[in-house]
Amino acid sequence: MTKSYPTHKPEAEPGTVPPLQGDVAEEISRPDASGQSRGSDDPAGGLVATRRGEQASFTYAPAPESRSIVHLQSSYGLFIDGAFVEPADGNAYKTENPATEEVLAEVAAAGLADVDRAVEVAGRAQREVWGPMSGAERAKYLFRVARIIQERSRELAVLESLDNGKPIRESRDVDVPLAAAHFFYYAGWADKLEYAGFGPHPAPIGVAGQVIPWNFPLMMAAWKLAPALAAGNTCVLKPASTTPLTALLLAEIIQQADLPPGVVNVVTGAGSVAGAALVAHPGIDKVAFTGSTEVGKDLQRAIAGTGKHLTLELGGKAANIVFEDAPLDQAVEGIVNGIFFNQGEVCCAGSRLLVQESIADTVVERLKRRLATLRVGDPLDKNTDLGAINNAAQLEKIRELAAAGEAEGAVRWSPSCTLPSKGYWFAPTVFTNVSQAHRIAQEEIFGPVLSVLTFRTPQEAVAKANNTVYGLSAGVWTEKGSRILWMAGQLRAGVVWANSFNRFDPTSPFGGYRESGFGREGGRQGLGAYLDV
Ligand code: NDP
Repeated sequence: MTKSYPTHKPEAEPGTVPPLQGDVAEEISRPDASGQSRGSDDPAGGLVATRRGEQASFTYAPAPESRSIVHLQSSYGLFIDGAFVEPADGNAYKTENPATEEVLAEVAAAGLADVDRAVEVAGRAQREVWGPMSGAERAKYLFRVARIIQERSRELAVLESLDNGKPIRESRDVDVPLAAAHFFYYAGWADKLEYAGFGPHPAPIGVAGQVIPWNFPLMMAAWKLAPALAAGNTCVLKPASTTPLTALLLAEIIQQADLPPGVVNVVTGAGSVAGAALVAHPGIDKVAFTGSTEVGKDLQRAIAGTGKHLTLELGGKAANIVFEDAPLDQAVEGIVNGIFFNQGEVCCAGSRLLVQESIADTVVERLKRRLATLRVGDPLDKNTDLGAINNAAQLEKIRELAAAGEAEGAVRWSPSCTLPSKGYWFAPTVFTNVSQAHRIAQEEIFGPVLSVLTFRTPQEAVAKANNTVYGLSAGVWTEKGSRILWMAGQLRAGVVWANSFNRFDPTSPFGGYRESGFGREGGRQGLGAYLDV
């Protein structure tokens, strides 16, 4: 059962999204993408609250984080055997800032010979140094990496926002601290493997080939490297083409922490070349992949019958379920965090809002009011809530799916906001009147687009939430503890958040099933994925 709500459809995007009609739009003045105030009565352009009718509006002076803390090199090599080296055939490509389309640096594109070399040195380092080393010694290195990540956190955060497009607030407060936390957490396990519940003599698997995506470049590197290293494996990491820079800075940190050469290797370059060669390499014993379901399936086919261990963390279409007894203001914050955190480029994003019919109008109205206060623009501005979409292909995919939503009859709404003319931008968008058959209710959009559906009973909420090929995450908002437990048992999702969303912790296993993949990262389970048990 779906309902329709009074809405306004933007006529064109990207570019200027036309202002809202109705009370919210009339009452709100917003900063533009560069952080300059628009429609403010304050000539100084400072923080101003103006009251028109019932709604206060705020304008913010720009508060950019300094770029100067990052020393960008004009070109970057591959990190193999403890040193930065040129690729064998000298190929390179450019990585750009998605917020401005400015080229940030040239990065080596690894070929087959480079992957061969990286796997070979990783194998040697595993057999001769890292595998035989005591867990307590390995732990010292991991603690050191964690501490250096903390020491260089500002540099990492700025670089992440430059290369990925995410707001500095998120890279500073989420990505970088969680990356350090993963190293700290798994450093703690390194000398306690025999007490982890995997038998008295748990052994490392060998060499891990790890392919990671662009949405959390540093954090994904930490999620992959820390448990693998704690368990005594060595690693060859392939970052996403569009976001190689923080993985390379992490390689520099690994050098700084004096890890033995060959224990961690980073090969940048195209997935179809370097990624495919890495995964298929006979010297790789374990493949860990995070990315699209499509590529995940290809990898699974490619290594079938080889005896390699595999974990896949793929897409999602999570339901964020709000019952009528939920604390609504909190729930609205949770909805916003669920889908607009990291521009919605999150595998576990709460991209489907399932709201109980009796409160649907109220929730959608409050949600729109809240969205009208989101600031979209310069990722390095500390006041920015939504940054740039990571790359042109992803923007195109979001546009295509949003257009399909309209074409299939859903009603589109975005708050009034001005998008920068350069770079890859998409306004926060809400679709109401969504039916379960719509593409926007079924396919992963991986952008700041929310599809709103309604339900009447808990059983209907469960049926709708589970009506997806994915099974990664879900959220439940209600005051009733018994209902939370019942829902958690019914929902076919690897992670269920109660009265919260998008909460991550290194101690907590994360992963899905069905087309969201298999295996767990984080916690004791994440350690098990790198042990031969
Ligand atoms: P991909 O799955 O293509 O990319 C993820 C990683 O895999 C990248 O490092 C990529 O390299 C690499 N890769 C690509 N092809 C191969 C291959 N044949 N063999 C080995 N490695 C390969 O995701 P996209 O970046 O194309 O994004 C497409 C969609 O995937 C998104 O719209 C989103 O729906 C989903 N996605 C899900 C993520 C998640 O967290 N689960 C993360 C990112 C995307 P390269 O960058 O060079 O292509």
